[in-house]
Amino acid sequence: MAEQTKKEFRCADVGYTECGWKLEGNSEEEMVPTIQDHAAKVHHLELKEEAVQHVRQAIRDVA
Ligand SMILES: [Zn+2]
Repeated sequence: MAEQTKKEFRCADVGYTECGWKLEGNSEEEMVPTIQDHAAKVHHLELKEEAVQHVRQAIRDVA
């Protein structure tokens, strides 16, 4: 039985080095809406398709 890999996103990894926000989750699908919400509230950014691709690439597995 494979254990589910945890995933992690750090805002700093997409360029917001001053932002200490990070998110853990079980899948990209689950995490992206929360990241979009954070981007909108904190960075006043609307993440469109292109930016979401960038965000997905920045999500990595946590050992
Ligand atoms: Zn941020």
